[in-house]
Amino acid sequence: MRKLFYEDINITDFTATVTACEPIDAGKTYRVLLDATAFFPEEGGQSADKGTLGNQSVLDVQIEKDLIYHYVEKPLEVGTTISGHVDWTQRFDFMQQHSGEHIVSGLVHKHFGYNNVGFHLSVNEVTLDFNGELTPEQIAMIEKEANEVVFQNLPIEISYPTKEELAVLSYRSKIEIEGQVRIITIPGVDVCACCAPHVAYTGSIGMIKITNCQSHRGGVRLNILCGQRALTDYNQKQNSVTAVSVALSAKPNLIADAVLRLKEENLRQKEKYNDLQAQYLKLSLSALPSPAQSNDAVLFVGPMDTIAIRNTVNELVESYTGYCAVFSGSENDGYQFIVGSKHADCKELAQILRQELGAKCGGNTPMIQGSITATPDMILNYLCSK
Ligand SMILES: [Zn+2]
Repeated sequence: MRKLFYEDINITDFTATVTACEPIDAGKTYRVLLDATAFFPEEGGQSADKGTLGNQSVLDVQIEKDLIYHYVEKPLEVGTTISGHVDWTQRFDFMQQHSGEHIVSGLVHKHFGYNNVGFHLSVNEVTLDFNGELTPEQIAMIEKEANEVVFQNLPIEISYPTKEELAVLSYRSKIEIEGQVRIITIPGVDVCACCAPHVAYTGSIGMIKITNCQSHRGGVRLNILCGQRALTDYNQKQNSVTAVSVALSAKPNLIADAVLRLKEENLRQKEKYNDLQAQYLKLSLSALPSPAQSNDAVLFVGPMDTIAIRNTVNELVESYTGYCAVFSGSENDGYQFIVGSKHADCKELAQILRQELGAKCGGNTPMIQGSITATPDMILNYLCSK
């Protein structure tokens, strides 16, 4: 089987002869071998190429024992000639990401001695795992230098050294490989064993952006975006910045400060609101019968925060021996409520309210919490001792 992507990375359209076709998944899919292919399979953490064989889509491409299997829906007749087409947009995008990865991994290895111990490249993300930690400053330095390598437009060289040459060559991803080892060299930046398609010059990668870094198995996992992906990300972020900038009437480069000011203002408003709520609840308490007149204290108020309600109930249980309750909301929209008592059984009350008035509530003997839709009269029926 000729691997056309090793002969010319730009080949997207090719013809080949079908040499094998077998059904799998009870005939739902077929896997096809050709005498030549331009499809790069899923390999080394990279997803497979997309495209078509004849008039059907290639669902997946896998490599086993150096044979490249194309997965398709309908069978292809062995011995026939078929045309293949590789989706260049995805292939080129993968080449940009993968070549960018070599630059970042090469620079991290050069400066800090860490190895790339995990690589994942799909249409959704590119992640690089290193067996050492990197500070934000070190990452910024790597990113800057990686982009300088792009600007220099260095050649990305592919070579197939002999065993003797390999023995004295210093390169990354040094594992025992049966057969010929393929070496990708970016002069002065990186030397690495790799089987994947790469761009010919670093300039074709476009911008390299490191977008995230998180701790991972004693080292770090970086997310990177190269080329078009970096531009798409820039556009999305610019749209967000513009939207925030317009909403806050702040210059785009000053939105962080504007958001912080807004948060502080919001906090002050919240404090004011809490204060007013507390004052309102205190005033409402004066309308209640005194502990001498009634064992129970039940308040109906407009919508309030749970904390304010709980504080009020906690205060009431110190003076009243029966049920102390605050219902917050309205007859139409329903009430959120808390009932507490130092002597009466609130858990028993919860059961009654659930059964009789369809309340949704729970808790324990001294305090219950929940929601209910009923009129104050209906509720008072079960809460106030007659
Ligand atoms: Zn590689």
